[in-house]
Amino acid sequence: MKTKIQSIRGMNDIPPELTPLWRRVENQARDILDRYGYQEFRVPIVERTELFVRSIGEVTDIVEKEMYTFEDRNGDSLSLRPEATASMVRAAIQKNMLDQTRRLWCIGPMFRHERPQRGRARQFHQLDVEVFGLSGPDIDAELIVLLARLWQELGIDNVRLDLNSLGNSKTQTIYRDILVQYFQDNKSVLDEDSLRRLTTNPLRILDSKNIQLKELIDEAPKPIDCLDDASKAHFDELLELLTVSNIQYHINPKLVRGLDYYTLTVFEWVTHELGAQGTVCGGGRYNNLIEDIGGRPTPAIGFAMGLERIVELIQQQGSFSLNNNPHVYIIAMDNENRAIAFKTAETLRSAHPKLRFLIDTGDGKFKRKLKAADKSGALLAFILGTDEVAKNMISVKFLREDRPQETITIDAASRILIELCVQTRDASTA
Ligand code: ATP
Ligand code: MG
Repeated sequence: MKTKIQSIRGMNDIPPELTPLWRRVENQARDILDRYGYQEFRVPIVERTELFVRSIGEVTDIVEKEMYTFEDRNGDSLSLRPEATASMVRAAIQKNMLDQTRRLWCIGPMFRHERPQRGRARQFHQLDVEVFGLSGPDIDAELIVLLARLWQELGIDNVRLDLNSLGNSKTQTIYRDILVQYFQDNKSVLDEDSLRRLTTNPLRILDSKNIQLKELIDEAPKPIDCLDDASKAHFDELLELLTVSNIQYHINPKLVRGLDYYTLTVFEWVTHELGAQGTVCGGGRYNNLIEDIGGRPTPAIGFAMGLERIVELIQQQGSFSLNNNPHVYIIAMDNENRAIAFKTAETLRSAHPKLRFLIDTGDGKFKRKLKAADKSGALLAFILGTDEVAKNMISVKFLREDRPQETITIDAASRILIELCVQTRDASTA
């Protein structure tokens, strides 16, 4: 036997048992985004490496060690996208979309060469939402209430909102000097990575996962204590909007996020239910990025949600039943009636577009087919044999009810299906 080919480490299949839950999450998100007036924008999975280096930042974990970078046949350096913001910004600039405000989203796989573990894959999926051209705190609040609504509609109740402000560019310049001075004074405690970052990107030191630096980082001056008046007013207004919207928040002065482009508001939704990787969604404002990568100066804000972590959270809460079994299993009693069963299935699918019909394919004994009907999880088996076909009728076997089999007209079978449709609708809106 030939050797089997395995998937790539950290790049996981999503099995058919789980895709109904994935679709539920994605559909709920799409539905809410529609209701808030956001438009889907599909961007490529591969971009020029330079785009990510310039936007995410040269001295970030993602760009330094996590990107899947390769040379195209014509010598260009390309990368699989590690996140979608850069691509969305690139595309909006390229398509001259920044002459008006835009509320956009996309969904899809992202790629980072991290150590695979619970909550961390090398191919994972994000819902990415970006707003271009609005600078007020009300749009920051809109993104947060939209997310709160999504949690509520998905039945997720154990996530907490962490908020911080990094200040505008003016604040950041002043803060940078204060921070560098602080770390200079404590240079002996810093590790190799942090020493390097001290000159390249001192803010990143705050994001260090090194336990030995925890105390030093805890004690470090925080951006939120250095906010200028404009930055402070933005943050205060956001907090007020959240309060009137009944959104609870937790101000976390240490929150800086792992990418370079943020200004003013940054936020994360976190949970304790997923072990070490508890951040299910992260985002913030990035008022300078669009200009930095060649667009007209445009304020912007966005977030990215990790879909694997959301799916796991819902699975853990057990608040979703994964039933996508067929409603009706159609059986031809013997080979002579296969064509008529096939045709009947098509007629039923046209008449009842909300129901799922599975037809038994292939040969085999009637007994085997009945067993397969039961195993499929279907509620009903429709059986077509020579007798039924001659009389233009169908035999209906009730697979989940203690009710004798009936041979009835196509019309009567249709009425049973209409009834079933009503029940399914009621069940799905419950
Ligand atoms: P983390 O601190 O968890 O590494 P991050 O700051 O790198 O997160 P972002 O780049 O902001 O995360 O991505 C947003 C969200 O995408 C995260 O909150 C998380 O839910 C999800 N995510 C990020 N990296 C991965 C990964 N390797 N596998 C699965 N989900 C991920
Ligand atoms: Mg990360």
